[in-house]
Amino acid sequence: MIQRNPTREIKIGHIVIGNGNPIAVQSMCATPTTDIDATLGQIRSLEGAGADIIRIAADSKKDARALIELRNHTDAVISVDLQENYRLAQILAPHVDKIRYNPGHLYHHERAKPWKDKVRYLVDIAGSHDCAMRIGVNAGSVDPDKLEKYPREDSITPMVDSALEHSEWLDQLGYSRYCVSLKDSDPRKTVDAYIRFAQARPEIPLHLGVTEAGMPPEGIEKTRIALEQLIGRGIGDTIRVSLTLPYEDKHLEIAAGHQILQDISDGRVRTVVHFSEDKLNLISCPSCSRVENEAFIDLAHKVRERTRYAENHAVTIAVMGCRVNGPGETDDADLGLWCGPNYVNLKRQGEKVGAFKYDEILDRLDEELRSLIS
Ligand code: SF4
Repeated sequence: MIQRNPTREIKIGHIVIGNGNPIAVQSMCATPTTDIDATLGQIRSLEGAGADIIRIAADSKKDARALIELRNHTDAVISVDLQENYRLAQILAPHVDKIRYNPGHLYHHERAKPWKDKVRYLVDIAGSHDCAMRIGVNAGSVDPDKLEKYPREDSITPMVDSALEHSEWLDQLGYSRYCVSLKDSDPRKTVDAYIRFAQARPEIPLHLGVTEAGMPPEGIEKTRIALEQLIGRGIGDTIRVSLTLPYEDKHLEIAAGHQILQDISDGRVRTVVHFSEDKLNLISCPSCSRVENEAFIDLAHKVRERTRYAENHAVTIAVMGCRVNGPGETDDADLGLWCGPNYVNLKRQGEKVGAFKYDEILDRLDEELRSLIS
């Protein structure tokens, strides 16, 4: 049995998390939201694998219309990921069970409008449509105001500060049906962020995950390291294992999540947690509807094969699926790639190297990697 922190109970559709309820396992559709057949297929496959909650991104009114259409064909518990366009909540709230917003994305639209007004708007909509919410803080897209306040070496405090600030504002607005996440691609930083938040606000339910964990098996191992540490301390009410997978294999995220929970429950955990700091660290995003070229998934796997020769070097390579979050999410990598429809952008230690065709990028990456480790 897993001992759990006494967080408050919140209802998300027919799923209840917090207050000792079973830890819910989630995933996110990676197919374009507007591709109704493909997305419905993915929802059904995730449900079949035992997903409790399924997240779907909505970036545009087209996505919103597609999500409403999807709702007509499924009873799955759906969370909408608002990404940058927070005003889509108004259209979508009547059709979804949960709204996820990222505090670090609120500034993109209506820049002059204070963030508190934007969150009040979201809370009013969620409250009047029986929706739960998630404050989803992500290391690659932290609120720029928070980043400015702290030294660059400290990437955890801005995340925790942002999550605490938004939680306090939701409390002041009288809305308590929310959970929080603080994801980093480094399992150690993820653990640190969640522990600090849970110490400050032990009653708030937490959604756990390591962002951009990469491909299996390494991506599962990174997530396992963080989840063992957190769940072993009673922290966590819902989880996601984020993996870079072909669309037809996305359900493996759910299987991995259930397996990790089962292992923790049965006591099959590591006694010594080792995260290979001196090894090649490959980070890749789990993809979502923002991917403009599905070749990204194949590319991530090819990057792994092509760079194996450098496995004993402390180099971080990040491969991201889109041009929107890619530039920010690769900031801390030694070599960062982010994918557009026809070109893959390459950055070396913060400096853009260029944009290369999909059949050119691996050679160019190889060149940069060899020069880095030589
Ligand atoms: Fe989606 Fe882009 Fe994030 Fe990948 S980097 S999960 S494609 S938003």
